[in-house]
Amino acid sequence: MLYGSHFRALLLSGLFIFSCALPITQAIGQTAGKDFGPRLADTKTEPADKPRIAADMSSKSKTPAEAKGKASTSTSVRYLPQKDGVWSVAETDNFRIFFKGDIKPIDKMAQVVEDSRQNAYERWFGKAEDTWSPKCYLYLDDSGKEFKKAPKNARGYTSAFQKGWNYHRYITVHSDDPDLVDTVLPHEITHAVMIGHFVDQLPTWADEGMAGIAQRRADFDDFHKLIGRYEHKGKLFSLQTLMEMEGYPDDDVDLFYAQSALLVEFLIKEKEPKVFVSLLREAKKDGWAPVLKKLYGIASFEDLEKRWKSFVFGNASPPNDG
Ligand SMILES: [Zn+2]
Repeated sequence: MLYGSHFRALLLSGLFIFSCALPITQAIGQTAGKDFGPRLADTKTEPADKPRIAADMSSKSKTPAEAKGKASTSTSVRYLPQKDGVWSVAETDNFRIFFKGDIKPIDKMAQVVEDSRQNAYERWFGKAEDTWSPKCYLYLDDSGKEFKKAPKNARGYTSAFQKGWNYHRYITVHSDDPDLVDTVLPHEITHAVMIGHFVDQLPTWADEGMAGIAQRRADFDDFHKLIGRYEHKGKLFSLQTLMEMEGYPDDDVDLFYAQSALLVEFLIKEKEPKVFVSLLREAKKDGWAPVLKKLYGIASFEDLEKRWKSFVFGNASPPNDG
């Protein structure tokens, strides 16, 4: 996660703030290498700078959780009386959803957010936690106004602060994002779930990688293509660099997201997700290399690099499509 300057200000005033955002990415394969505006130097954003092409938008690819065929419990939604004449409000057990306009899509949205929360807890911690109190505030922004303080090109944005024992979670997304339901919300909600689970803040690559795992599978095809292009140019982040990086890189942010997601995917294919959670906890104390060895039998960063690349590329050489 990256901290925005306004969040630093809050930190200084005594609030414990987390923030992270999914940046708008350059449309993979179309604008790679093109400068897409100010860098995400301050906050966490998720890739999404352009509307996806129609074929991509209509993709019905499933998130990994859905692919496992998990049944969701039906979510009850309560619509609250409008108070400020601007935002309508709907509530589920764990979310207070602020939206404008038609209430019709909100029932589906409510189900998606509760399912995403449940799936993230189950995947990483085995079971869901108690109901969030206070509820997570989710803003479905229709004008971009709520993104003023978010990183440039933010596609979704999650922040939180701690008050007493409680975490106040806030998520802002663009209401018209074509990938809202199967990528942006599951991603941001994973960040919201991670809040409060680690004494220290998660390393950014792990936080983004775990959130990336919740995205639809079609995004992973994009990650593979992007990584293939960078590998061909010899410009991938070394995994040691990635794992030891503080915050986000100044450049190649999309690559950072893609490599983080595929590194987490590799590690949870090697061992169960709970082992990955142990890695994060123990490495904080003992460092990455010894804990990778202890929990995964990975001898060194070189060994990790070799095994990860064989996971990503198989035995074939990386595609030359860039
Ligand atoms: Zn993120």
